[in-house]
Amino acid sequence: MKRNASLAEISDGRLYGRNDMVKADCHGCHGCSECCRGMGNSVILDPCDVYRLQKGLGKGLGVLIEEGKVELHVVDGCILPNLRMAGEGEACAFLNGQGRCGIHAFRPSICRLFPLGRYYEQGDFKYMLQIHECPMKNRSKVKVSKWIDMPQQERNHSFVCRWHYLLNDLEALIGNCEDVALAKQANMVLLQTFYLTQYDVGQDFYGQFDRRCEQFAAVLDQMQP
Ligand code: SF4
Ligand code: SF4
Repeated sequence: MKRNASLAEISDGRLYGRNDMVKADCHGCHGCSECCRGMGNSVILDPCDVYRLQKGLGKGLGVLIEEGKVELHVVDGCILPNLRMAGEGEACAFLNGQGRCGIHAFRPSICRLFPLGRYYEQGDFKYMLQIHECPMKNRSKVKVSKWIDMPQQERNHSFVCRWHYLLNDLEALIGNCEDVALAKQANMVLLQTFYLTQYDVGQDFYGQFDRRCEQFAAVLDQMQP
């Protein structure tokens, strides 16, 4: 989700790379679960999250939607899935009774980053430390790559960029499209191609993502008026 705020308003004003140290380590959070509650529809899932959830839970996105753990909403013109916050305290459906994440090992990338966020520019991105999001005082410095704790970080970085700019292009296409049915169809193809068609979790994610990008581009080409 894009935010129209300056870096100075929401962060410490610095941009970080994977090898930089950043004051993000909350020491296990000590029972705080603030970033797992009341987050509205901001915890958006990307295709890699869906792959990892499918691998960890043995359930595809369609089932998670049916179970009310994930919902769909429109983000900048594109229909995308997000973790559903519901019930008392608007808690994430994966927050357990002890106030801990029930899917910690394969939690979505937005959760892995927190309180870091991504700042995109010129076809790439860096990390920023959001200063209004996490109430924990005395956070320690930690290496960014250690904090996000994601396997295959270089490949994941390339994927995150590719996905972000693919969505940017689609958003522009939908925004400029006067044909409502065509815009809706593009969104349906996006959902089906990257989210609802289950992944082969016995295979690496990134190769499957590349193939799906090619399929998606071919379908979009056919749809151009
Ligand atoms: S708000 Fe900060 S301290 Fe609380 S759970 Fe999230 S990351 Fe941990
Ligand atoms: S998936 Fe886990 S870390 Fe992310 S919001 Fe839900 S409970 Fe919190």
